[in-house]
Amino acid sequence: MISLKNVSKWYGHFQVLTDCSTEVKKGEVVVVCGPSGSGKSTLIKTVNGLEPIQQGEIRVNDTQVNLKSTNLAQLRAKVGMVFQHFELFPHLSIIENLILAQVKVLKRDKAAAREKGQALLKRVGLTAHADKYPAQLSGGQQQRVAIARALCMDPIAMLFDEPTSALDPEMINEVLDVMVELAQEGMTMMVVTHEMGFARKVANRVIFMDEGKIVEDRDKDEFFNNPQSDRAKDFLAKIL
Ligand code: ADP
Ligand code: MG
Repeated sequence: MISLKNVSKWYGHFQVLTDCSTEVKKGEVVVVCGPSGSGKSTLIKTVNGLEPIQQGEIRVNDTQVNLKSTNLAQLRAKVGMVFQHFELFPHLSIIENLILAQVKVLKRDKAAAREKGQALLKRVGLTAHADKYPAQLSGGQQQRVAIARALCMDPIAMLFDEPTSALDPEMINEVLDVMVELAQEGMTMMVVTHEMGFARKVANRVIFMDEGKIVEDRDKDEFFNNPQSDRAKDFLAKIL
């Protein structure tokens, strides 16, 4: 469903991604980990065109992402993304946050969009908060809204960039629970996270990045039980 072939990217003279290739099949959950600054965020942002690339090719199903002619708004509806800092619209109520892109991008009528938004709020356990504003919710609740907002677009895949790393510890599990459920329902997911409990539970594969390169891309159990590179061994020793 998602394929990256020999992707390289530079910020000015600094090469942030070097010859990255991988594939994510339909229904697969791939966890991306690695030290800070290794290019994880940049890599997953290239998948929905949030970061352009200078070399290589990225495809999502039959859409080639890195073409000028690609409709990026449509692509980002199909490939939902959830960030570290929720990025809800602060001046819109929760339900309005969920309605906006459905109406603007998918051209749904407002009643249908509201209904869909309410169904997804229910799914993440936040029905009672529909008319509140983001600032009135806890971080964990806001992140669940961000996930619901992405799901309102009926995405074929979801990207997560450290979705729990800005949360207080007691809120991490309520977000991970939603993600585990999503994974178990068969959603195709690329997840940048250092939550190795999540990785062990639902990941099919783990990608380990270092200095802009994909150093390991392997079956989850093989990665945890027998990391090949010294960098991955060091990394696991530090976080486990
Ligand atoms: P990670 O998510 O693994 O911490 P990032 O993808 O955020 O890594 O960043 C990889 C490298 O690229 C870092 O050295 C970072 O400083 C650099 N970088 C990230 N974004 C930019 C940018 N917009 N301009 C220049 N350098 C950037
Ligand atoms: Mg990052």
